[in-house]
Amino acid sequence: MKFGRLLVKEFVKVENRRSYWLCECDCGNTSIVMGVNLRHGGGTNSCGCASKEAIASTGKLRPSKSLAPAGPDYRRLWKIRVGMIARCYDPRQLFYKDYGGRGITVCDEWLHSFDAFYFWAIASGYSPELSIDRKNNDEGYSPDNCKWSTAKEQAHNRRSSKRYEAFGESKVLEEWGRDSRAVVCKNTIKIRVANGWDFQSAMTTPAMPRRDRALLGHQGRRKKTEKRIETC
Ligand SMILES: [Zn+2]
Repeated sequence: MKFGRLLVKEFVKVENRRSYWLCECDCGNTSIVMGVNLRHGGGTNSCGCASKEAIASTGKLRPSKSLAPAGPDYRRLWKIRVGMIARCYDPRQLFYKDYGGRGITVCDEWLHSFDAFYFWAIASGYSPELSIDRKNNDEGYSPDNCKWSTAKEQAHNRRSSKRYEAFGESKVLEEWGRDSRAVVCKNTIKIRVANGWDFQSAMTTPAMPRRDRALLGHQGRRKKTEKRIETC
């Protein structure tokens, strides 16, 4: 199996219920990668060489072959692209964990050409008061998944999408509720998490039969149950 630049060579070990695989990168390096991080269209898809190249590609303000006209739009879009690449490929960045850390990448086209990004931006409604926004929060930066939004729209998207981790993936509650690995409904998951459950156990522990639940309920309810048992 091949994921990005990584060719999976052999199974290494299972540790803490996670599997590790030995992979060979196109550049010739080998590295050991956690199975859940090997995904198509995201995750770990090189030995680290892709990140180095990506960061290096943001080094030069005006690539010699650029056809984009100089001006304020050029300068702002340059900064936006540098920020986007840094969030996805530079672990020293403050927000890396929410981007590169969860497998968000920048498409090859934008990674290797500022002009590709510039001309997409202009054609897709860029203006100086808008910022770049992803339509699907689980997918990377690419012409298909990006649009220009106001700060207000972006804040709304962020608020309505609190994310939870399970099985090495990060999704919003709605998505986990529909996930085939969830054995209870999203409301049960929500209540359990509010009671301090670990998210993955909250979604994979079957619901208790009603009778047992009553016996384990909080103090007030237990008294009620006992009274009922006595009177029966
Ligand atoms: Zn490599």
